Amino acid sequence: MAKNCPAMEAAATLLDAEAVGDLVLLDPLTEESLLRTLQERFRRSDIYTYIGDVVISVNPYRPLPIYTPEKVQEYHNCNFFAVKPHIYAIADDAYRSLRDRDRDQCILITGESGAGKTEASKLVMSYVAAVCSKGEEVDKVKEQLLQSNPVLEAFGNAKTIRNDNSSRFGKYMDVEFDFKGEPLGGVISNCEYGLTPQPRTELHEICELIKLDPGTLEQALCSRTVKARDETVLTALSVSQGYYCRDALAKNIYSRLFDWLVNRINTSIQPGKQRKVMGVLDIYGFEIFQDNGFEQFIINYCNEKLQQIFILMTLKEEQEEYIREGIQWTPVEFFDNGIICELIENSKCGILAMLDEECLRPGVVNEDTFVTKLNQLFATHKHYESKETQNAKHVTDLSLPQRCFRIHHYAGKVTYNVTGFIEKNNDLLFRDLSQAMWAARHTLLRSLFPEGDPQKVSLKLPPTAGSQFKTSVATLMKNLYSKNPNYIRCIKPNDTKTAMLFTPELVLAQIRYLGLMENVRVRRAGYAFRQLYSPFLQRYKMLGTKTWPRWAGGDREGTEVLLSELKFPPEELAYGYTKIFIRSPRTLFDLEKRRQER
Ligand code: ADP
Ligand code: MG
Repeated sequence: MAKNCPAMEAAATLLDAEAVGDLVLLDPLTEESLLRTLQERFRRSDIYTYIGDVVISVNPYRPLPIYTPEKVQEYHNCNFFAVKPHIYAIADDAYRSLRDRDRDQCILITGESGAGKTEASKLVMSYVAAVCSKGEEVDKVKEQLLQSNPVLEAFGNAKTIRNDNSSRFGKYMDVEFDFKGEPLGGVISNCEYGLTPQPRTELHEICELIKLDPGTLEQALCSRTVKARDETVLTALSVSQGYYCRDALAKNIYSRLFDWLVNRINTSIQPGKQRKVMGVLDIYGFEIFQDNGFEQFIINYCNEKLQQIFILMTLKEEQEEYIREGIQWTPVEFFDNGIICELIENSKCGILAMLDEECLRPGVVNEDTFVTKLNQLFATHKHYESKETQNAKHVTDLSLPQRCFRIHHYAGKVTYNVTGFIEKNNDLLFRDLSQAMWAARHTLLRSLFPEGDPQKVSLKLPPTAGSQFKTSVATLMKNLYSKNPNYIRCIKPNDTKTAMLFTPELVLAQIRYLGLMENVRVRRAGYAFRQLYSPFLQRYKMLGTKTWPRWAGGDREGTEVLLSELKFPPEELAYGYTKIFIRSPRTLFDLEKRRQER
């Protein structure tokens, strides 16, 4: 343990009964106690709280003096539990485990818009930049990595009601390190979705800019070429189809340009040889609005997958620790959300597959047939509900409107209105539009639409938005699963970007969406608390007649002697090779209380 880390004091902040620093120790564990603890800590300007090694961060909406170089030094090389909860502690833990234990890391940052995700990702990056070693080459790499942010933000962010600097893309950035833990470079991926085409420019102005004959663009926007066997038919589009085309084109140009930008940055920050990786994922959290459409469905699906990976990885890690420590593994009940993921993504009969089927069906398609099909398929599914299935199940609370379905997500029930699902999923760019773009004499633009080259015409339909998203989520999950996860859950305390204001109802909703209760439950699936024998015995030896004032034997024996003298129920304790494990927080508080009474 580093010299400047007063482990005992920090343990005391974690065990502060009114505002525990680690929610795993909450007793009793209720939504109410969880909420009140965060509120009390926020009042004391303690914006960070742990759930085990997960960090919860509540946006202070004002500058706090906790990000100074002195703070960086304080957290550098400290034992995670020996200092006050801080985002630097998680960054340090991740960095050290990458450097010393050779484990690739990923840092998953979630939360709703304005909760502080992007700031958190920047804090992690700048912490790592500050603690890794110095040198001209290293400084250049760090500079490049940190400076890529403003460029991406300039193109990818926008002011919204929720956040003045809202990221409109999900970002995943891998920072690569050499064997000594010095950064080599990085790779950024973006999972951008659904940009609204935030301008409306006249045809001629546009064509001037992209160096394209206005007639070509006009035709591409107003008609569609359909090839049937040997015939080519030019059909005129209706006004609404024309608008659709225009929007699809604008969105496509923007998103392809953004991809191009990410690629350009990647070529300049890409290291020669990859060694160890720290990935930072900054992604929109669970969304439940008054009206939820396709975007919310997709975002919530992604969060459902992140939750699944959280459960799998946490349990895997717990299991590994028990094996390492030679402790018997006693599984505890928790909710496995795999069934909800399947409901959405099953490639044969999941909701996304059904939607694709509707989208690809020739003839008139609409969302009514889509819902009808879902209702038949999932009539008895525990996590699916609609007006029809309610009727069939004789549910009396018929609160569900028509053309809607409700999914019971791990974070709560969300009612989705299917209007627009087909159009959004089918966000295909008509071949005519790609060909028109390819005909432009603007070289960059032209390079963004390679499929517009008439030589390369393919009859295959491009993948739907839903299936593209599913593929990128799967790639992301595979990537995350190969790494050691570190979690940062961000919470927005109020809707007005005000400092010091904590709106309980708003935070409670986020506690639910972030699945924090479930999070605590999974974390203490086995033992809520564990600590190395030596600091544990040091702290509590005064409670035993045989261990006080001095214990001459080993730390483990001392701990056993002490705890058997205190007569705790045996099932509350487990003795690992290096650590003592305590099942419920109550036992720990009991110990702490006795200590304070001495
Ligand atoms: P998100 O990425 O989750 O949408 P941001 O990270 O952009 O949210 O944060 C929104 C705003 O909140 C920031 O522009 C900043 O003003 C404030 N903020 C977020 N985190 C902090 C922090 N740790 N300290 C001070 N202000 C913060
Ligand atoms: Mg952001």
